[in-house]
Amino acid sequence: MSKENRRILEFMDDTFKGWLCRESITHNELYQFLHTIKELSEKEKLYAISTALSDMIETFHSHERTLWSKREWQQYTSSIISLVDKVKVTNVLDLLDSDGTELSKEDFILLVDDDVTFVTLAKQLLENEGFLVIVAPNGKRALEMIYDFKPSLILIDIHLPDIDGFTILQNIVVKARKSYIPIALISAADNKANRLMAYQLGAIDFIPKPIDQDLFIANVYNRLAHRKEVEKYVITDELTGLYNRKYMNTQIIHYFNLFRKDRGMYSIILLDLDHFKFVNDTYGHIVGDEVLREFASLAQSIKREQDIICRYGGEEFVILLPNTTREQTKAQMAKLQEALKQKDFLANDTRFQVTFSAGISVISSNNLHIEKLLDEADKALYFAKNAGRNQVAFYNQSLQTSNHVLRLTIVIVEDSYLIRKVLMKYLSKWNSNKNLEINFIEFNNGVTFLASEWYKPTEKYVILLDGIMPEMDGLEVLVNVRENYPRDNILISMLTGRKGEEHILNALRNGADDYIVKPFDTEEVFERILRLIKRVFV
Ligand code: GH3
Ligand code: MG
Ligand code: MG
Repeated sequence: MSKENRRILEFMDDTFKGWLCRESITHNELYQFLHTIKELSEKEKLYAISTALSDMIETFHSHERTLWSKREWQQYTSSIISLVDKVKVTNVLDLLDSDGTELSKEDFILLVDDDVTFVTLAKQLLENEGFLVIVAPNGKRALEMIYDFKPSLILIDIHLPDIDGFTILQNIVVKARKSYIPIALISAADNKANRLMAYQLGAIDFIPKPIDQDLFIANVYNRLAHRKEVEKYVITDELTGLYNRKYMNTQIIHYFNLFRKDRGMYSIILLDLDHFKFVNDTYGHIVGDEVLREFASLAQSIKREQDIICRYGGEEFVILLPNTTREQTKAQMAKLQEALKQKDFLANDTRFQVTFSAGISVISSNNLHIEKLLDEADKALYFAKNAGRNQVAFYNQSLQTSNHVLRLTIVIVEDSYLIRKVLMKYLSKWNSNKNLEINFIEFNNGVTFLASEWYKPTEKYVILLDGIMPEMDGLEVLVNVRENYPRDNILISMLTGRKGEEHILNALRNGADDYIVKPFDTEEVFERILRLIKRVFV
């Protein structure tokens, strides 16, 4: 956000804070306010704003009233907020255009570190390149984040207070390797012993601190490019040994060709384990991985010679059945269901069972599109889940309308009126997305937020939480939410001022998923949160 705009926004914010405590304000107060904004914008050479303000002042006498109620002045000034904010957004877009950089939409970089100064610097450098950086302050969070955010690169600082980077490296290297995620260690203690240890434990790079910014960025680009290249040739999934999604796509295209010749029935099954998060949360990710492996091998042992099973993602699988009638497809699924019912999984001494739900679509002459077929299978899967799980459903036309809608509530807990308004304005853009239904709730302090009945177990939440608030600190609010509500349905991003940077790591340690430094660029916040939501909830 430009300095000039910020000055105006700060003035507006201060004024609004005073006004919000009152029932109404006088006509004269609002008039003075318009004048001040006009003067400020002229001084800052923001002519688009000052011209608009001149117009508003000119027509101001037509709004004849002595008092303006809260609703009235809020409505009236909302156009100014948009205006001040829009000027800035255009600048940002200009900037993006000028050097041709585009936001890379896929690469997440996981930074495992709790040195605030370095985190802030590295995050800034990488985000300038369009990568999204997520920060884990300790090993446990790092591991969780690998599962939840699927980063493309992991950077670990050796010196962490609770545990050293080598131990973290040891704990995550197996999982990271299976997904071809390169790991680099970063350390000020650049000596042979540390380098040797890093390489022996499986790090790809050792980056000395203080980092050389150009070398650092160039290295990141290289590692990411290399990873992409490796992935291009891989057709099996490392964890389960099944084919991967890419292979499945080529196979479906092959089936299209066969179908054109023989007009047989080709089924595509999208299968998803039920309540898998519960398995991870209860028994840990390692056991979760083992369940995936054992399920895969069970499915392999039951499939017919001609069938193909792929791991589609996390705990989702796709099974392709060539030349198979509807009845045969059902029978195959029943067989798998029965076998799984007979199977006990083990976590230490605890035995537990797992079920799956599946949706099935069928190749036909008017549907020879991978995306559409998978979308139909997904709709059927969604139906099976809603109908109680542990069942199989075929796609049919009536499911066409039952779109997979993600219901999301964005909770803004922030004492600045302006920041709340600006955020709501941007985030409400999502409402144009038909697969996403967004509600907003706003609170100007943590106490009222916690006292309210905001939570419904069936919904997903993104909480944007101001770090520093007068009545109750954001950190306290965060701890309370993490203690009292299920983690999975709630993504929390802290909004923090530059001065609050020490709070960042505390917040991450206490369960914040992300943080955004104020003053922020609304467009960027929008992008950022959308990407987080996609990774975590979709
Ligand atoms: P539902 O019955 O609705 O499918 O519930 P669910 O809990 O299975 O829901 P969801 O699909 O949201 O959860 C999938 C979880 O699988 C989230 C993610 O952390 C976890 N996961 C993804 N990949 C892996 C993996 O490779 N190993 C392990 N252990 N967990 C994974
Ligand atoms: Mg799933
Ligand atoms: Mg599932």
